[in-house]
Amino acid sequence: QGFSSSVKIAGIPMRTKKKGSNAIKRENATFITLARNEELEGLLSSINEVESRFNKDYHYDWVFLNDMEFTMEFRKRVSLAVSGKAKFGRIPEEQWGYPSFIDQSRAADARQYLKSIIYGDSESYRFMCRFESGFFYKQPLMDEYKYYWRVEPDVKFPCDIVEDPFKVMREKKRLYGFTLALYEIPYVVEGLWDATKEFIEKYPQYINNHNAMRFVTANKDDGYNLCHFWSNFEIADLDFFRSEAYEAYFQHLDEAGGFFYNRWGDAPVHTLAVSLLMDREQLHWFKNIGYYHPPFQNCPAEPEVRRELNCDCPNIPGAVSDDWFNFAYEANSCISQYMIAIGKDS
Ligand code: GDP
Ligand code: MN
Repeated sequence: QGFSSSVKIAGIPMRTKKKGSNAIKRENATFITLARNEELEGLLSSINEVESRFNKDYHYDWVFLNDMEFTMEFRKRVSLAVSGKAKFGRIPEEQWGYPSFIDQSRAADARQYLKSIIYGDSESYRFMCRFESGFFYKQPLMDEYKYYWRVEPDVKFPCDIVEDPFKVMREKKRLYGFTLALYEIPYVVEGLWDATKEFIEKYPQYINNHNAMRFVTANKDDGYNLCHFWSNFEIADLDFFRSEAYEAYFQHLDEAGGFFYNRWGDAPVHTLAVSLLMDREQLHWFKNIGYYHPPFQNCPAEPEVRRELNCDCPNIPGAVSDDWFNFAYEANSCISQYMIAIGKDS
């Protein structure tokens, strides 16, 4: 490895010893963030949360991706904030736009039709969802890694993370880890279940016979129950996404057109994929990782754990009840569905 990383002491950037000299053993893993230049401040806030609660002891790398060129200021400030190596990539144009088979005037009609729903009228949001569904793991910067941890601007990690989640993934043979699970807005995933059923019929060989399909449907013919893992937080194995089975699923959905004729999100897409293609034992709920992405928060349910991890999980802004600091067991959470599907909580 041999490159150096930068840390700040009393606000002054210091060059540290060579990376790899740290006593703590790292996994083959990286953080990954898709962001715009304008999101720099919110991103620095997220990085500081991750560093202070976890990465200061590990110095994992961090890959930053953008459909535009990152500015010098962005690169400089982000590089100083990350204790591992920061890497910056530009997404190829053909991975951020319309594939040739999409009818763009029909896509424009769909945006008009869905304009009253959050991001319903946004073209760039759809490019983002398609990219996060089918292309993040194909970036050359990701080739060397096995695991990734996705982080977005403006998220918080309100508890210490004392156990390396990447190590948990490897030791427990997990392929997909999450913190929050909830119900999707029905309109934005119209057609997704039909396309998924077609996929199941066309490629039965890819469907795992010990899968977690119960998480997404009580019965295949009843349709999608709208449960999805919130993909703004993900810790997962890249080899799953690089598999023939996942690629076939993505291609099938892409050709069905719902990223543009509807507003299919990468969260339900990843969720349906992991629920069908994986063994349900390969999923992992990181129930003790404190995580906040507005407007939901996961926070350890047990008071002793919250104390031990120095949690600072404020009540969720706008919450109806006084102690709504943990979304997991609220009515709109899909954790109960998850427990039914898996037969245990993690
Ligand atoms: P939400 O979490 O569904 O409300 O969507 P966000 O606005 O947080 O977007 C999801 C992720 O994609 C975040 O990491 C954003 O920084 C990123 N993102 C969204 N739109 C764009 C875009 O047009 N360009 C780039 N480079 N990143 C984007
Ligand atoms: Mn977000």
